[in-house]
Amino acid sequence: MQHRSRTGSHGKSGAKAGKLHLPMPPVDRAAKEALEPAFSLFSAESKRYPLILTLDQNGIPHRWVTWQHAVWYYAKERVAWETGSAAFTVNGGKSRDTGEVSSVSAASIIAIRGKAMAMKSFNQVPPLNNRELFHRDRHVCGYCGGVFSHSKLTRDHIIPYSRRGLDTWMNVVAACRSCNERKGSRLPEEAHMELVYAPYVPNRAEFLILANRRILVDQMEFLKQHVSAQSRVHLS
Ligand SMILES: [Zn+2]
Repeated sequence: MQHRSRTGSHGKSGAKAGKLHLPMPPVDRAAKEALEPAFSLFSAESKRYPLILTLDQNGIPHRWVTWQHAVWYYAKERVAWETGSAAFTVNGGKSRDTGEVSSVSAASIIAIRGKAMAMKSFNQVPPLNNRELFHRDRHVCGYCGGVFSHSKLTRDHIIPYSRRGLDTWMNVVAACRSCNERKGSRLPEEAHMELVYAPYVPNRAEFLILANRRILVDQMEFLKQHVSAQSRVHLS
């Protein structure tokens, strides 16, 4: 793993970044320092820029944050180290003394101080959503093997929901509508429909890959190192 320290003219410390005229949320003085502001991953503004991958101090992948959130981490001096290629540079105000325009740049992958708890959450089962499920299964129907768009796929419960099958990663596969209807509330063997691949639980690194459609090459390479060798992510 390559660790790079901040260098160059973009401001070595978060204190400089804090002086920039950036779209920061108003700071509630009563709020605890530990509280992080909420930045929506889905706002129009954040969609224009790549998401930044945060890690804990040990380099364990934690989550995606917006560039605004990343700038907030820099300003609060919470960035322990960074790696990956620079994701963006934001220009700030003009210095009255030097006339220079200040700027802050954030790397595409940053390790956050005090995020050791990510170690625990790394092994937690990620939430099950259709988008990530279909992505896990590479948009391939688990029964006929055809490739389908998101809108043509369904979440099939291998042991049917009506027969106490669980709504978990290990009991679901992507299935096209016609296969799902044909199978109905039967088990695959009862319906004589064999699964063409096996379900599995993605770990957190894989879930982060599945959840971000605009993942950068260096972020992908970093996350892949944390994905189990059996994962289908390695096929892409
Ligand atoms: Zn099918």
